[in-house]
Amino acid sequence: MSKKRCKDQNTGTEPTVPSRAEAAQARKHAADLRQSSADLRKKPTGLRQSAADQREDIADQREDIADQREDIADQREEAATSKAKLNTSTQALLKEANERLIIASVNAQTMTETAELAKEQMSHMAGHDYLTGLPNRLLLNDRMAQSIAFAQRHSKKVALVFMDLDYFKHINDSLGHAVGDALLKSIAKRLQACVRRSDTACRQGGDEFVVLLNEVETVCDAVVLAEKIIETMSQPHLVSGHQLNVTFSIGISFYPDDGKDLETVARNADAAMYQAKEKGRNTYQIFTKEMDARALARHSMEQELHRALEQNRFVLHYQPKVNLETGSITGIEALIRIRHSDNQLVYPEHFISIAEDCGLILPIGRWVLHEACRQTQAWLQAGFDISQIAVNVSSNEFLSQDFFAGVISVLHETGLDPRHLELEITESGLMKDTAKVMAILHALKKLGVRIAIDDFGTGYSSLSYLARFPLDTLKIDQSFVQNLDDASHDKENAIISAVIAMGESLEHRVVAEGIETKQQLTFLQSKNCTEGQGYYFSRPLAAEEITALMVATI
Ligand code: C2E
Ligand code: MG
Ligand code: MG
Repeated sequence: MSKKRCKDQNTGTEPTVPSRAEAAQARKHAADLRQSSADLRKKPTGLRQSAADQREDIADQREDIADQREDIADQREEAATSKAKLNTSTQALLKEANERLIIASVNAQTMTETAELAKEQMSHMAGHDYLTGLPNRLLLNDRMAQSIAFAQRHSKKVALVFMDLDYFKHINDSLGHAVGDALLKSIAKRLQACVRRSDTACRQGGDEFVVLLNEVETVCDAVVLAEKIIETMSQPHLVSGHQLNVTFSIGISFYPDDGKDLETVARNADAAMYQAKEKGRNTYQIFTKEMDARALARHSMEQELHRALEQNRFVLHYQPKVNLETGSITGIEALIRIRHSDNQLVYPEHFISIAEDCGLILPIGRWVLHEACRQTQAWLQAGFDISQIAVNVSSNEFLSQDFFAGVISVLHETGLDPRHLELEITESGLMKDTAKVMAILHALKKLGVRIAIDDFGTGYSSLSYLARFPLDTLKIDQSFVQNLDDASHDKENAIISAVIAMGESLEHRVVAEGIETKQQLTFLQSKNCTEGQGYYFSRPLAAEEITALMVATI
């Protein structure tokens, strides 16, 4: 600012000359004014700058928004594409699912049908025998219940025809199970052909068949059927190249005459069948009340055998075998009895076959073997010279799985030398399963045990087997010996002579059983029979009595 004087514009008065302080103040004021005007000049530039910045920001934001829009557009496009894709794959999936559903329902249908079929097959199997296809015991029970209900309403009878194939075991044992099975099938076919459609032919199991006859008027209806079955079955069966002749034992019982329920009628038909077997087989029997008594007796004997085993009431009696020339004792046979509670003895003919049927023969036979060996060892230790103790063995025992092991352990337990033991097996027992029998016989021989063939002449053994079996002794059945007295029995005499000669040539000892008279003894001596056994020498005796007998003969 210039230092010239000027008028005060506000007052219009002539300024006065300022003092130095006032001048400095004025200068400072002017400098401030200059500064603030400079600042003011600067401000618009800042504002412009910030406006420019803001514009730039806005532009950036716009750009961002544009980018975002673009992104959204892209995403929309993508979404549209994937939606389109999704539609296509969903449709494919749906299609596939549909197809699967169809297949699944077809499968489900097939499975239902298969399940139905399996169910049908299972219920058929449950009611039928797998081998022959005939109804089985279960189905028979059902049908019998229906038949009884029908018979009650219409006052009719129902007949149960029980059939057991005679000697089937022989066929199975000698020709094998495959042939046995084929034979059973052939029988089933013929049996079915014998009965009416309304009747039921069924296989009970094993070689047992049953026919249920409905609406029976008289006993004759069942008899006619039984005769027809016997006739039809008697024609040879051609099975696996074999021509097999078989026979049946048949038992018949009726509802309501012989029983008011299935169980009783069946039990009585079974009793009648047993009777047919005892009558010589290949025949039929109609149930009678007496048979019921026999069946009951059988049942009570079975109970008695169980009790005798538990209460240790079996006893052995001993019968000496003697040298027919010298009369000296050559051996002893052990024979079983049951001591009844009233001290009476029950003999083996009343219980051995029952024990065989119900399986008790195995523990009984084991007891016999042990007791006979124990007693013999005691006699030997007491100084008696007993060459052999003979023990009877049932074929069921002999062919049982543990028989050989049982013999070894009894010998071990009693300490008896195997050379002192002779096992007696019946002729028919030996012929049951020849291959197995042969193997056991050889094993026993190797051990040192002797083998006798009992009741020789009553069975029908093959001579070639006789020669091949490792036997030691032939025991001629007592029926031949007892007929020796009768002059009209020349044939029996000839048989005895032939057996003695055969025994000699096979180097077997020959023992004649059941010698009761001097005449029988003389005949046997004349034929050079070396040994015998019978009441003529001694009845079977208790162990103490035999001891006394041996003491007396020393
Ligand atoms: P078996 O082995 O042929 O025995 C001979 C049978 O004839 C015995 O009958 C004996 O007492 C009898 N007997 C002996 N001498 C004479 C005689 O002169 N005249 C007559 N009439 N009979 C005589 P038992 O003791 O009644 O035995 C019968 C059958 O029972 C035996 O015949 C045998 O097959 C069987 N048995 C006996 N004990 C046993 C055993 O412990 N186990 C097995 N499985 N069977 C046995
Ligand atoms: Mg005997
Ligand atoms: Mg005998």
